Amino acid sequence: MSLQLSRLLTDLGEKSSYDAASQCCRCGYCEAACPTYVVTGDETCSARGRNQLVRSLIEHKLYEPASAHDALHTCLLCGACTAACYARVATADIVLEGRRMLDAKTHWLAHLLSRLMAEHRGWLAFMLKAVNVAKRLGLTTLARPILRVIGLPGLALAEEHVQEAPLTFLYEVLRRRPWAAQPHWLYFAPCGPNFLYPRVGKATVAVLEALRGGGNFLDNDCCGLLAYNYGDVDDARVLARRNIARFEAAGGTGPLVGDCSSCVAFLKSYPQLFLSEPDWKMRAERFAAVVRDVPEVLSDASLPEADLPTTTYHDSCRACHGQGLKEGAHTAIRRLAGASYRELPESDMCCGGAGAYAFRNPGISDDLIKRKVGRIAATGARLVATSGTSCLIQLAQGLKKYYPECEVLHLSELAARAVASGRAVQGAKDGTQAGA
Ligand code: SF4
Ligand code: SF4
Repeated sequence: MSLQLSRLLTDLGEKSSYDAASQCCRCGYCEAACPTYVVTGDETCSARGRNQLVRSLIEHKLYEPASAHDALHTCLLCGACTAACYARVATADIVLEGRRMLDAKTHWLAHLLSRLMAEHRGWLAFMLKAVNVAKRLGLTTLARPILRVIGLPGLALAEEHVQEAPLTFLYEVLRRRPWAAQPHWLYFAPCGPNFLYPRVGKATVAVLEALRGGGNFLDNDCCGLLAYNYGDVDDARVLARRNIARFEAAGGTGPLVGDCSSCVAFLKSYPQLFLSEPDWKMRAERFAAVVRDVPEVLSDASLPEADLPTTTYHDSCRACHGQGLKEGAHTAIRRLAGASYRELPESDMCCGGAGAYAFRNPGISDDLIKRKVGRIAATGARLVATSGTSCLIQLAQGLKKYYPECEVLHLSELAARAVASGRAVQGAKDGTQAGA
């Protein structure tokens, strides 16, 4: 058992993983904020339970280390505990270190995906396209029982949950279009918009052009979050170095805007990957300083109101807890939805998506999405907006199952509607055709 990140960047400075875990005084103040504790009532499924387990693992005082497996693997890594904690204990990063200590070997599927992301992105795109063709033909539904029999129930569940199957990926569209010679911003395409929701990326680019003028596409690699959470930290470093170098080659000035809050929060945390490499740490800090998430960009943007049905907002964990963007996101959505906006109770409680969590922990994940959809239905909303890919997938499948009258869209898509309606209003004033 060994740690992969021996030191962590916490809100109270750089600390060893052991010191970071020891900072938890077990006060329990964060318990009410922890979604897994709220739905299970199990002490080991709370931040203090998990921090205590990792501390004992590092001290070699856990006589049956495998007994920590469920407690650590059911953590959503949502960061709600850190946001509620006076000492800002970095529980999610501590839990990840605990998982890496327990799981001497990464799951072969996570390892394969992580390697494909890092070294063979062309092959990954080719395979995803083949899967999407099969999905459109209804063939992947037939594969579900086989996946369950061969011990991959999570993959069967992923096939069931993910409703999108684009045949043209976002980077293919963006590579073909013209860009500004003197860009005012750069666009980072996260894997979610890239491979599942190209419409989100197109909306973000349209909004950025309307708000800030011409920009450019970074043509980036995966941010590395998948490797960091499920695979190998070294693979995450390979991807981070490549993205930083590409950003520097593109001029090294921002803002660099992404539209998946998990990915953006990870880009902002790049310096943590390079604590023992001063040169790369400095480059990662320069890079992280200009990264922006969509709620951040829209919080002070002057946008017209969009014509929306009754609308509410779900805060992506990595936007509100990971980046502190709750207020900005709510300012933006209030402006976009106007009188159609309804505040969502517990808007910052995780929906149970959390990357691959929904496929690995279907029980807790379903409890959380039922709770979330119940709150959404109580507002009477017909539209819910959010800013993370996992939230889009999880809310789409939860709404389809429990409240089909409502749909989920990315915040950028709402802003793109507002931009389009603003143009229509301007066109009508000028006596020209809308969108002409
Ligand atoms: S993580 Fe923070 S709030 Fe939660 S039990 Fe530990 S010290 Fe208390
Ligand atoms: S990261 Fe989320 S699920 Fe994990 S202990 Fe903290 S609040 Fe609970």
